[in-house]
Amino acid sequence: METYTIIREISNEEDMQAFGCSLVNILHPGQTVFLKGPLGAGKTTLVRAILQALGVKGPVRSPTYTLVESYTGCGLNLYHFDFYRFKDPVELEEAGFRELFSKDTICMVEWPENAAEFMPEADLVIEIDYFGLGRKIRVTSNRVRLDFLENI
Ligand code: ADP
Ligand code: MG
Repeated sequence: METYTIIREISNEEDMQAFGCSLVNILHPGQTVFLKGPLGAGKTTLVRAILQALGVKGPVRSPTYTLVESYTGCGLNLYHFDFYRFKDPVELEEAGFRELFSKDTICMVEWPENAAEFMPEADLVIEIDYFGLGRKIRVTSNRVRLDFLENI
């Protein structure tokens, strides 16, 4: 299958919110989404936008210390990981994280490179980088068609 790529310039947080809303259209159970980019780029902000678009009402906290935050119930089955501080793959196995990557869940992973040997292949890779006063986002996938996102 061909690789799909879209690139967006996001000038402020409000636009990031809107982009999160449009991404909801291509998210489905069973997908693993990698979020890449430097600290403060907006990975957690984008996940928060997605969760709010999916109807999550409570706070969306960064899983920097907990490694994972779960959003389950009401038809939603999403796990948000952050492996920034992660060191020991054994810890992951023991915590049973592997089971969380399943056909029924959406797993969104910040710093997947820190747990590379443990990670399944990504369905979507979202890279966020600083760009002037805003951000540039590149989304790539060889499993999910992204072309219709062009129009959103
Ligand atoms: P990361 O998870 O990538 O480390 P965060 O989402 O925690 O980053 O933090 C991003 C920070 O940048 C937040 O403080 C947010 O308010 C700020 N910010 C400024 N402009 C943007 C933008 N266009 N998109 C996302 N965040 C932005
Ligand atoms: Mg973060």
